[in-house]
Amino acid sequence: MELRNLPGVDKVLTHRRIAGITGKYPHDLLVSVIREQLEQERISIAGGKVGGSLDGIVKAVLGRLDSVLKPTLRRVINASGVILHTNLGRAPLSRETILAMEEASRGYANLEIDMEKGSRGSRQVHVESLLCRLTGAEAALVVNNNASGVLLGLTALARRKKVIVSRGQAVEIGGGFRIPDVMRQSGARLVEVGTTNCTYARDFEQAIDERVAALMRVHSSNFRLLGFTSEVSLEELIGIAGKNNLMVLDDLGSGSLLDTKAFGLAPEPMVQQSVKAGASLTFFSGDKLLGGPQAGVIIGKKEYVDKLKKHPLARSARIDKVRLAGLAATLLHYLREEAVSKVPVWQMIAAPLKEIEKRAGLWSKALGGEAKVVDGETMVGGGSLPGGSLPTKLVAIVSGRKKVQEIGRKLRLRERPVFGRIEKDRLLLDPRTVLPEEDEIIVRALSEIFKK
Ligand SMILES: *Cc1c(COP(=O)(O)O)cnc(C)c1O
Repeated sequence: MELRNLPGVDKVLTHRRIAGITGKYPHDLLVSVIREQLEQERISIAGGKVGGSLDGIVKAVLGRLDSVLKPTLRRVINASGVILHTNLGRAPLSRETILAMEEASRGYANLEIDMEKGSRGSRQVHVESLLCRLTGAEAALVVNNNASGVLLGLTALARRKKVIVSRGQAVEIGGGFRIPDVMRQSGARLVEVGTTNCTYARDFEQAIDERVAALMRVHSSNFRLLGFTSEVSLEELIGIAGKNNLMVLDDLGSGSLLDTKAFGLAPEPMVQQSVKAGASLTFFSGDKLLGGPQAGVIIGKKEYVDKLKKHPLARSARIDKVRLAGLAATLLHYLREEAVSKVPVWQMIAAPLKEIEKRAGLWSKALGGEAKVVDGETMVGGGSLPGGSLPTKLVAIVSGRKKVQEIGRKLRLRERPVFGRIEKDRLLLDPRTVLPEEDEIIVRALSEIFKK
C-alpha cells in the first residue's frame, strides 16, 4: 500500500471486524489505537517498506488493543539462578504474607486506630514491637524502602553536619543509588576517610571535629575487595563514636535476621549484631534477605527513631497499609522460628541439593536429548553476600549461540514468561530459584518449545 492509499480512521472503524466490536471498547480508545497504527504504517512506508493491506492494518489494530488492555507488569518465572533478582522483583512472598496483604487491601483496616480508645494511632505499631522483639532494638520505624530510610536518617540527624564514611564504603549499590549522592541530597556533608582498600580507626579519629554528627558504615553489598584490605569494624566505630559523643549509622543493605553461615554461605552482617554492638540506627531492606515486601526498616535507639518519626520527610517516605500488613506477616515467621520453612527466599537458600537435582532431572526429561544436568551455582543477589553462592544443579541447553538466544526469547515471550541465563552459549535454568509449584509450567514450556 502506498501513502496516498492509506485508509483513514473512519475506514478502519467501519471494517467489519472492527464494526463488530465497537460496543465492546470505549470509542476514544479504539480511535486512538487506530491512529497509532496508521501512524506506524506511515512511518514504515516513508522508510521504504511496503505498507500493510486494510485487513493487515485491522489485524494489527486488534493486536494493539489487546496489549494496551493487558497489564504490562506480570508474574514471571525466575529460573535465572539469582534468588533476590532486583529486575524480577526481589523476594517472592510467603503464603501468609500474601493472605495478609490481600486482607488488608480488600476492605478497611485498623491502620491508624488505637483500638482501645478508638482514637487516632500510629501505623508503626503493627510492626514496631515485632521488630524490637526480634532484634533487641529500643524502637523501630518502617518506610517505603531502604534508600528512603537512609535518606530520612541522614536528613533528620545530620543535615548541615558531617558524616564520616570509609572511602571503601562510599559505594554505588546499583540502579544509580550512590551513597555520596544520597548524602548530598540529605544536606549532610560526606567526609571520606582512608583509601579504597584500607581504612583504619585513626583515619576516623583524625577526621573528627565539632561539625561531625555521625560515623557511618555502609555494607559493601555488591562487591568484595580481595587481597590487602582493612576496614574498621562496627564495634570499633561505636567505640570511637562513644568517646566523641557521635552517632553511628549502620546501613546493612540486605540485613539478615538468620545466620547465613548456617547455610554454607559467606557471613552476612546480622541485624541483631548491629543492635547489640550499639549502633544508633540500623537500616535494612524488607525485600532482600528478610524475604518480605518492599520496605525500609530502621531500628535503633528510641531518641533517634523518634526524631525520624517526627521529620516531614517521614511522611513522604511512608509505607502503605498493604505492605505493612505483609511485612508484619513475614516478621511473624521469624518470631515463630519458621522462616526457613515458610519464607520462600530462605526455602530456596535451604533447599537440599538432592531435591534440586531431582527437579532438574524432570525438567531436562521434557527436553529429550537437548539438555543435560550440570553442576552450577545460585547467587543470592540483591546486594547481599557479594561473591557468595550456593551449589546447585542446572539444566543446560547447548545448541549454538543463535539457537540458544532464540530459545531464551521464546521462553520470555510466553504467556507466563520464563527467565534463564545465558552463559558461554548455553542457556541455563536453575530450579533453586523457581517455586516448586511452577515446575509444571516450566516443563510444559520446555516441551512445547522443543516439539516445534
Ligand atoms: C540495597 C541497598 C540499599 C537500597 O535498598 P532498597 O530497599 O533497594 O531501597 C541501600 N544500601 C545498601 C547497602 C543496599 O545494599
